[in-house]
This record gives sequence, structure tokens and C-alpha cells, in this order.
Amino acid sequence: MEAIARDFFLYLSKNSLLNKIAQKRGGKFAAGKIIGGIDFQSSMRFIRDLNNSGLSVTVDHLGEFVDSEEVANERTEECIQTIEMIAREKLDSQVSLKMTSLGLDIDHNLVFRNMTKILDTAEKNNIMVTIDMEDVPRCQATIDIFREFKEKYSCISTVLQAYLYRTEQDLKDLGRYHPFLRLVKGAYKESPEVAFPEKKDVDENYKKLIEQSLLNGNYTAIASHDDQIIEYTKKLVKKHNIPTTQFEFQMLYGMRSKTQSRLVKDGYKVRVYVPYGLDWYGYFMRRMAERPQNISFAFKGIFKG
Ligand SMILES: Cc1cc2nc3c(=O)[nH]c(=O)nc-3n(C[C@H](O)[C@H](O)[C@H](O)COP(=O)(O)OP(=O)(O)OC[C@H]3O[C@@H](n4cnc5c(N)ncnc54)[C@H](O)[C@@H]3O)c2cc1C
Repeated sequence: MEAIARDFFLYLSKNSLLNKIAQKRGGKFAAGKIIGGIDFQSSMRFIRDLNNSGLSVTVDHLGEFVDSEEVANERTEECIQTIEMIAREKLDSQVSLKMTSLGLDIDHNLVFRNMTKILDTAEKNNIMVTIDMEDVPRCQATIDIFREFKEKYSCISTVLQAYLYRTEQDLKDLGRYHPFLRLVKGAYKESPEVAFPEKKDVDENYKKLIEQSLLNGNYTAIASHDDQIIEYTKKLVKKHNIPTTQFEFQMLYGMRSKTQSRLVKDGYKVRVYVPYGLDWYGYFMRRMAERPQNISFAFKGIFKG
């Protein structure tokens, strides 16, 4: 059943007619629900609303797996402008981005040049840039890029995925940097050779990683909509007297809005991941296809608090 659902959503995600219709007419449906808007400018009012409700934000310009240098450079310029606008408009927002959007699949030097430009601007404006983690063939390269830039810049963070066997060691290896880390369960379909196939094992590993990261003193973002994980974190920080300034919860825009507000009311920091861009249709469909549980996750998030 899961495989059928995945194939179905992958098929839909590549349907250029539906994508065109979504780009032309669907922006209004998606804006303010699952994405901020079709560009950063139109997302700003939703970001302000979130900020006014006590929620911090990280924005992500949709569109990964870029295969042309020209587009990778355009994405870089877009990202720089976004950082400058965040600073100018005094928004409480960081930036998330995927290495494939800057040219990871094309050439390492291209990514290096683009990241240098982005991080120079981010450092100048004191805005954190988080490198999202993509699928496993790109994991090592992403960690290498993070390490390379972490030696020089402070405003850089990355993501580790609890479903990968390798992550416990990656977390230990990154320990000396005491990095700002986002911990997630993992969104891609990976094989049992590299990832825990059972959800219960992913959840157990996730808890272990949260504990290790926090006890190492890392600023840790727990990015999950799972009540069980949120409750575990609350108990853990209480047990070890970890201050609320050392961690935050993160959730996707449009998911569990009432839970987000409740956490803020209880004194926790919450950051909402707000994607924007014309490519929202593919994001939405791929999200569901990558992990069929996201079918309910997406719809529950839109309809449930
Ligand atoms: C801010 C953020 C950034 C992310 N960045 C990355 C990244 O860089 N790389 C990557 O691979 N993945 C990323 N992810 C996705 C992540 O890996 C998971 O695929 C996704 O978050 C689903 O897992 P979960 O922990 O939220 O809950 P799941 O394991 O999907 O669900 C567990 C339980 O939580 C509850 N639940 C979950 N979602 C909802 C909902 N919407 N409404 C109500 N109840 C719900 C349900 O009870 C469900 O049974 C990110 C996620 C977030 C929130």
C-alpha cells in the first residue's frame, strides 16, 4: 500500500501539466497554508504574522536538484537578497537551503563559490544559514561542506537524520565544533543497508541523538511533529537542567499550529520552516512520496491543530 502511494505521488510530482496549473493558479491555494508564497516578498506578511505570535522562522526557497550552473547562480543571488531583506525588515528569520540547489550535483567548486558568497552576507547580517540534509548519496558531501565552512564561519548549521545508522558517529565527529544542529527523523526513502527500516528504531535513535547533542552542549533544534519526541525532550531537559536557550523545537509551516502556539506559551522556543517559491507543487507531492506517512502528516497538519 505504501509503495503504491509513493509511486502515485512521485508520478504526480513529475506531471508537468499539473505543475504548470499549480504554478499558474495554485499559488493562492498554497500561500499561507503550506508555503509562505510564490516569492520571498509575498511570504513576508506570513512571516511577520508568525513572528508576532512569538514564533521564529527559517525560510527555504523551493527547488532542489539543480542541474545547470546558471540556475545554481540565480539561486545563490536569490538567497543573498533574501538574507538582506530579512535583515532590512528586521524579521526573526533564518535561512535554510539545499546544497543541490547551489550546484552540488554539478561541481564542488561551484558550491564552494556560491556558499562563500551566501555566508559572507549571512555573517555580515548575523543570520544563521542551515544546510538541509538530502538523500544518503549526498550526505557525506553535505557534512564535508559544513565542516569546511564551519572552520571559517559561525553562522552555519546543518541537519542530521535519525534514520541513518551513520548519524551517531557523525554527531560524535561534529562534537568538537559544538554546532547548531537540527535533528530530524529523515524524509527520504533509504534502503535497510543504510537506514533503520522500523519506525520504532528510528524513534529510539532519535531520542539517543537528542540526548547526546544536548549533553555535548550543542544548540539543538528538535524538528518533529511527534508528541512523543516533544514530551521526551521536555523531560530530558528538565532532568539535566538544560536551559531553554540551548534548544528549540522546529515544525513545518502549516503543521500543528496549535501545538506550536502551546509550546511558545509554555516558554519554549519554536521555529517554523516556511518554504516559498513557484515549485511548491513538487515540494508538496515529493514530501508525501518520499515518506508515505507524510500523506496523513500533511493533511492532518492542514486540518488538525
Ligand atoms: C523544520 C523541519 C525541517 C526538516 N528538515 C529536514 C531535512 O533537512 N532533511 C530531512 O531528511 N528531513 C527533514 N525534515 C523532515 C523530517 O525528517 C520528517 O520526515 C518529518 O518531520 C516527519 O517526521 P516527524 O518526526 O515530524 O513525525 P512522524 O514520525 O512522521 O510522525 C509521528 C507521529 O507524530 C504525529 N504527527 C506527525 N505529524 C503530524 C501532524 N502534521 N499533525 C499531527 N500529528 C502529527 C502523529 O501522531 C504521528 O504518528 C524536516 C522536518 C521539519 C519539521
